[in-house]
Amino acid sequence: MKYSIFDTHCDTLCSVLDYGKSIVMNECHVDIERMKKYEQYTQVFACFIDPVYKSCAADRTLNLIDTFHNTVSDKLPDNVRGILSIEGGEGIYSLAHLRNFYRLGVRIIALTWNFSNHIASGALETDETRGLTEFGKLVVAEMNRLGIFADVSHLNDKSFYDVAEYSNKPIIASHSNARAVCRSKAVCPVERNLTDDQFEIIKKSGGCVGINFCPDFLNERGKADVEDIIRHIEHFMSLGGEDNVGIGADFDGIDSTPDGINGVEDIYKIFDRLLQKGYTENQIEKISHKNFERILRNA
Ligand SMILES: [Zn+2]
Repeated sequence: MKYSIFDTHCDTLCSVLDYGKSIVMNECHVDIERMKKYEQYTQVFACFIDPVYKSCAADRTLNLIDTFHNTVSDKLPDNVRGILSIEGGEGIYSLAHLRNFYRLGVRIIALTWNFSNHIASGALETDETRGLTEFGKLVVAEMNRLGIFADVSHLNDKSFYDVAEYSNKPIIASHSNARAVCRSKAVCPVERNLTDDQFEIIKKSGGCVGINFCPDFLNERGKADVEDIIRHIEHFMSLGGEDNVGIGADFDGIDSTPDGINGVEDIYKIFDRLLQKGYTENQIEKISHKNFERILRNA
């Protein structure tokens, strides 16, 4: 396939570790057989720390990292690349843990999932005044120094603005959409999507937002299609965000997908549609992979 793709979020490592799925070929959203059909495919693999692992979070993080190195990375063909991220910093007990995760290849960290931890507060935190903790500020500074990008996708608003204040590197929202387009359903925290002001801050930092394919974050109907994805991309484009939008599908982390998008094999439809709508190849290449490539190259 003619496109190259850079996707900043999937939960496939959990399917491989917990359910013994093969990364080569499976019935999930992401596998090598389908990724390798693109010109180039870069997949950020998240080590998602489910709250059930709270008391052994560092072990869980290490097990997921090991899954990547032991059963995924050695199978990737030349045109498919994997990058590690952490979703939920519960396993970062100290800066030594953080540095060791860096040494093992982690380049993006979402400080929290939906709940609060000893670093920051997530989108479901009810105390709106709770943001980055004192330890969290040290974590962000050390991430900046090492070259690990802060991922704000699950943070509450206060933590978002704290990260923006304490980070001096490009900020990433690996899998979030535009709050102006979808304020989410009642069951989903509105903070999973970004305000225009937050997008402006990400843009100024030189960062990027990966569009999330979860129907609940695309519109209020809970059922979505390619046009919904396009609407979020176009909203960010209308804010001058051509260099700051990418893809963060959330594959294998979402229960349902937009109509017509069954997995990585269908991502091309988004770019075909943008082409049809008159966007230039240069613009489309930025969104499909070049924006995130630009940022991660500097890691
Ligand atoms: Zn997530």
